[in-house]
Order: sequence, then C-alpha cells, then structure tokens
Amino acid sequence: MKTYPDLDTYRKELFAPEDDLLKEIMPDAVEQGLPRISVSPESGKMLYFLAKSIGARKILEFGALAGYSGIWLARALPDTGRFITLEIHPKHAEVTRKNYEAAGLSGIAEVRVGDAHTLVTGAAAEAPFDLVFIDADKESYPDYLDFALEHTRQGGLIVADNTNGFGHVHEALDESDGRRAIRVYNDRVANHSGLVSNIIPIGGWLTVSLVL
Ligand code: SAH
Ligand code: MG
Repeated sequence: MKTYPDLDTYRKELFAPEDDLLKEIMPDAVEQGLPRISVSPESGKMLYFLAKSIGARKILEFGALAGYSGIWLARALPDTGRFITLEIHPKHAEVTRKNYEAAGLSGIAEVRVGDAHTLVTGAAAEAPFDLVFIDADKESYPDYLDFALEHTRQGGLIVADNTNGFGHVHEALDESDGRRAIRVYNDRVANHSGLVSNIIPIGGWLTVSLVL
C-alpha cells in the first residue's frame, strides 16, 4: 500500500492532483517576475467543486494573476459557459491570457484589463453570475462584495480568498491596516440575512456565501 509523508500530502495528492499545465503555471509565472500568490491546489479544487455543485455557467473573478484559479474555475463550466476575470496589471493579464490559451479555454475565458472598480460597470452587463470569486486587492473586498451581492443569482455563490487576513484577521487591526477590510468582509457576510456563509479553512481560508 502506498504511504504518504503526512496527511496534507495524502489529501492533496488524492483530491487535488494537478495536471502538467497547472503544475507549470506558477513556476513559469514566478520566472517571469510575478509573485507566487495563487490559490493552492486544494483551494483550486474546492473552487472547481463549488462551481460544479451549483451547475455554474457564468463566473466572475476579481484578480487573475497568472490564471491559476481561473483555470480551475473555467474548467468547471460547460462549453457554452462564460468566465470573466478582472486584472489591473497588464503583465499579469498577458500571462493569464496565454495560460487560458494553453488550457484550451480561450473560447470561454476572458481577461479584462484595468481597475476592477471601473471594470465592474461593463461586467454588470453580463450579470447575473452564478459564482463570483473575490481575490484582488484586499482593501477593496467590501466594494467587490457590494457588486457581488447585487449581481449574483439566487442559489449562487460568493467566494473570497485569503480571509484569514494572512493569519491576523482575529486581531485588533488599526484603521490603516489593509487586512481590516477582510474583517469587515467576513463580518458582513456572516451577519447578512440574505446569505448563508461559512469558512473553508484551507490555504489562506475561503469565505463562502450562498445567496438565498
Ligand atoms: N486569483 C489568482 C491570484 C490573484 S492575486 C489565483 O489564485 O491564481 C491578486 C491579483 O489581483 C493580482 O494579479 C493583482 O494585480 C490584481 N489586482 C490588484 N488590485 C486590483 C484591482 N484594483 N483591480 C483588478 N485587479 C487587481
Ligand atoms: Mg488569494
């Protein structure tokens, strides 16, 4: 019987294996000067699972980086599905676009370049979304939540990454601390009467909210 060095390796190898393309994305991106801040394979598989579980056809992402999370999400869509990601950094957008092409997803996955605060106006025309994944600048999570609450269908999901605030969300954070916005985000979704919310404590935590 095969043995594994630890439980985390067992869990990851069995439930979140990456194909060659996914394996290469972040090493390749780092070589091109991008930061290594994508979701983990476990979180990627969870995003895929969540999108599949609600039969998602249309997904919006805030923050593409190199397209790692986007590929997990877009792979959960049918051929007629639609995936839009909003990315402020032109270099990140370019790398992402190439990776979607390599994944054979250019037909359904689209990168829009600019500040998400501005791009949401155009994205609103494609609403309602089945799933909105928030993973761009942390200070803006409450703004992106406002958009998601208005543009996610009933029975859809709003998901946010890094919601443990890099391990500090439970501490007293002063006004200028960017992580405070994550605290605000969690407080709002936890107490929102139109949502059922929970934390999936993998990676830097995913906060998931089901729209009632
Ligand atoms: N979702 C990706 C990681 C995203 S990292 C993955 O897990 O694979 C966060 C990304 O958000 C970075 O690429 C950054 O350039 C982008 N970003 C930061 N501020 C933004 C803004 N205001 N609008 C759109 N994108 C933004
Ligand atoms: Mg993240």
